[in-house]
Amino acid sequence: MTENIKTIIVGAGLSGLVVAQKLKQFAPSHQFRVLDQASHCGGAIRSISEHGFKAEIGPHGFLDNCLESRQLLEQTGLDKEIVKASLSTFVRYVCINGSLMMIPQSPLKIIKAPLIPWKDKFRVLGELFKQPLEGEPTVAKWANYRFGKALLPYVDAVFTGTYAGDFNELKIDAVMPGVRELEKTHGSIIKGVLSKALKARKAKPKGKKLEMPAMTSFPEGMQRLPERLAELLEPGQELLLNCQVNSVHQATHGWAVETDQGTMSAENLVIALPVNESLKLIGSTLPEAPVNQIPEAWIATVVFGFERAQLPPGFGFLIPESEKRFTLGTLFSSNMFPGRAPNDHIVFETLVGGRRHPERLEIEDKELIARSLADIRGLLNLPAEPKYTKVLRPSSGIPQLEKGYTSLLNWRNQLMVDIPSLFICGFGWDGIGINDMIKKATRIGEQLVSGEAHQIEANEVKKVYF
Ligand SMILES: Cc1cc2nc3c(=O)[nH]c(=O)nc-3n(C[C@H](O)[C@H](O)[C@H](O)COP(=O)(O)OP(=O)(O)OC[C@H]3O[C@@H](n4cnc5c(N)ncnc54)[C@H](O)[C@@H]3O)c2cc1C
Repeated sequence: MTENIKTIIVGAGLSGLVVAQKLKQFAPSHQFRVLDQASHCGGAIRSISEHGFKAEIGPHGFLDNCLESRQLLEQTGLDKEIVKASLSTFVRYVCINGSLMMIPQSPLKIIKAPLIPWKDKFRVLGELFKQPLEGEPTVAKWANYRFGKALLPYVDAVFTGTYAGDFNELKIDAVMPGVRELEKTHGSIIKGVLSKALKARKAKPKGKKLEMPAMTSFPEGMQRLPERLAELLEPGQELLLNCQVNSVHQATHGWAVETDQGTMSAENLVIALPVNESLKLIGSTLPEAPVNQIPEAWIATVVFGFERAQLPPGFGFLIPESEKRFTLGTLFSSNMFPGRAPNDHIVFETLVGGRRHPERLEIEDKELIARSLADIRGLLNLPAEPKYTKVLRPSSGIPQLEKGYTSLLNWRNQLMVDIPSLFICGFGWDGIGINDMIKKATRIGEQLVSGEAHQIEANEVKKVYF
């Protein structure tokens, strides 16, 4: 194929599709092509619907507190389709000593709640006087140093819920670079957070309340997001499926891309792939990366539908490793969004495996369902037998930002500065969440439109929500 394509985008997951949407919207004459090896778009994002039960193989939703995501919804008309569940009304629970402890969403209520003994609450305040911790500590080491060990099960739950990860391996500088910066600039996280909250309060227009964000999805599930983005592209021209990219090389006027469907060339190359897939593709042709792969956490989701049962109010619960249970946590899907289960039924999704227990993913479906159900029965009051069960096994692992990740990210950033026609984004590069993907892909789309040079962005302080 020898067409005049200005930009090739490898990967039609959310990241690649967002870059394409920006080009389509803001530079209609900019010719581009998105290539994906799969027969469908969306990568990690896939929803299922069976016998009236709806569930997610990948992400369950995203918070509505990211400007770029809200703009994307408006630009694509998806803002008229979304369903939302506000964090102010949907609490979460953490399993502590075999019981579900409710986590209130307001800081004052968290302080008052009996989550940890009062002496440990005073230890948390001791954080105000701790020097920044040197080096590249793990999340567990850093949290223990700053806040004391009583908070560790809750911190573990946060990173189980987001990364399916092991907080003894995840690096604080990689997963929360903004928080780490607060530590350095304010000398304390509590001081830093208070100062930011005060600024936000001052900046808010008079009479407007500061609201908690809401979890966002679509009536038929998250798959609607990539589906809508793909609808905007011309099939076979702007979007080529079943087209694996085997290698990429710098050529005289840009890039040569070797694919299953022949060699294609373009001025710019956007690699919109998960970290390990990106490294496989660029590792052999470009300056050597400090590591050639990073660990991933794989999970299985066990979906349960029950008739005439009731779930506790809220989003669901997370289980720290110290509880030594079989499952990692459960999402109360039919509480979160309407239409996820038939009338008089509930549906919830239980996660198994993760970074610490890959061996549990080897278990066959029947046993996985039985062991997960036995585990949950100890925490929820459920009728005798489920009406519906299903094991979902995602086709992607969750990239783990552990030892070596920060130097890998610096390598990627430098590479993009040195080679202005190369753009690298995707799952694990600039975070792991949907909002992270949309934000970075939007920046890349804007750069392609304006021709502005790569810039290394300041770290953002992301709020932690259970
Ligand atoms: C189980 C799970 C649960 C999650 N839950 C949440 C959640 O609740 N909230 C949240 O915000 N985020 C969640 N995420 C993260 C979210 O799904 C990702 O951030 C996002 O989907 C990543 O999109 P991407 O386009 O960067 O990568 P991907 O979705 O991985 O897309 C990459 C695409 O590239 C294609 N590809 C790969 N190699 C090649 C090649 N050589 N040639 C051509 N094509 C190729 C693949 O087929 C794929 O379509 C979850 C992820 C997983 C796996």
